[in-house]
Amino acid sequence: MKVYITSLILAVLSISGLIAQPIKIDLSALQSSKPWAATEQWEPKPPKVTPGMFTLAPSDAIVLFDGKDLDAWHKPKYGYGTRMDEVESIIKWKADHPENSAAEWIVKDGQMIVKPGAGAIETNLAFGDVQLHIEWLAPVDPGKESQGYSNSGIFLMGMYELQVLNSYENETYSNGQAGSMYKQLIPLVNASRPPGEWQSYDIVFTAPRFNEDGTLKSPATITVFHNGLLIQNHAVLKGPCVYIGTPYYFKHPEKLPLLLQDHGNKVRFRNIWIREL
Ligand code: MG
Repeated sequence: MKVYITSLILAVLSISGLIAQPIKIDLSALQSSKPWAATEQWEPKPPKVTPGMFTLAPSDAIVLFDGKDLDAWHKPKYGYGTRMDEVESIIKWKADHPENSAAEWIVKDGQMIVKPGAGAIETNLAFGDVQLHIEWLAPVDPGKESQGYSNSGIFLMGMYELQVLNSYENETYSNGQAGSMYKQLIPLVNASRPPGEWQSYDIVFTAPRFNEDGTLKSPATITVFHNGLLIQNHAVLKGPCVYIGTPYYFKHPEKLPLLLQDHGNKVRFRNIWIREL
């Protein structure tokens, strides 16, 4: 009886127009006109890449160190400059003198270890815009402090330094701690792990562009994740990272080797891969 009464009420309301009738969609007409297809973009297709598992190199990366040897590296005659005039003359010298010697850093237990006094090492290949993954470990070194505690550096194009340092409870100037673009850009947060533990940097670097006359077209920019945390967000560089003086841009080649710093500390590296952008 209850169902009968409900149906009766609904029928009366429907006839009287008090219940809105559902909008009728002509599905067959919609299928033939396909209005949704107008906003589908099918080309270009992004290249298919097999992703790495966690930190393993993806299929399209250039592996710079896989734990076995230093074949992708050499020792440059001159490493990096500490003042702008040095930086300029070293970069110029490198362009005219491609000769280099074998990298002398230590390879042990799947790691490459800075050999203090052996000098910087740099890649045989030159790079411009890149995505770079690199893992590093600042060794425990009691008694050391500030810039002296497990210092190294990742010099993009041999002159734009992302600092490597023990910055876990080790005070130093903010624009010189781990994750800083040395003496230019302070990291957004301190994502440092304690010394003796492995850490990672994931970097997106855009090289500067220059006009024909040598003037700057667009500055270098960098994005960095330190142990998965964003610490540099498309940050703009003022020029090469120098120890002394004010940086400025000078026209240099579109691609230059990646350099790792020997700052006298036995900093370790592993699992280094790079993708050209
Ligand atoms: Mg350094």
